[in-house]
Amino acid sequence: MAYKIIASQCTACGSCEFDCPNQAVGMKGDVFAINAGKCGECEGFFDVPQCVEVCPAECIVRA
Ligand code: SF4
Ligand code: SF4
Repeated sequence: MAYKIIASQCTACGSCEFDCPNQAVGMKGDVFAINAGKCGECEGFFDVPQCVEVCPAECIVRA
């Protein structure tokens, strides 16, 4: 399982990239995207997905 970013709602603030323990987030064109192969839903690091916690646009959802 992994999370994904709804690209049309991402404001490219960069918060999710900064807080991801797996370096699963990166720029894709003008917005950010999650590499599903790297996203481990923060398991082993945090109780809740950090990207979801910090996203001000609330545009990160379960893939
Ligand atoms: S859920 Fe965790 S591991 Fe997955 S992209 Fe978000 S911060 Fe990174
Ligand atoms: S925290 Fe949300 S708005 Fe900011 S770059 Fe990530 S997905 Fe986009």
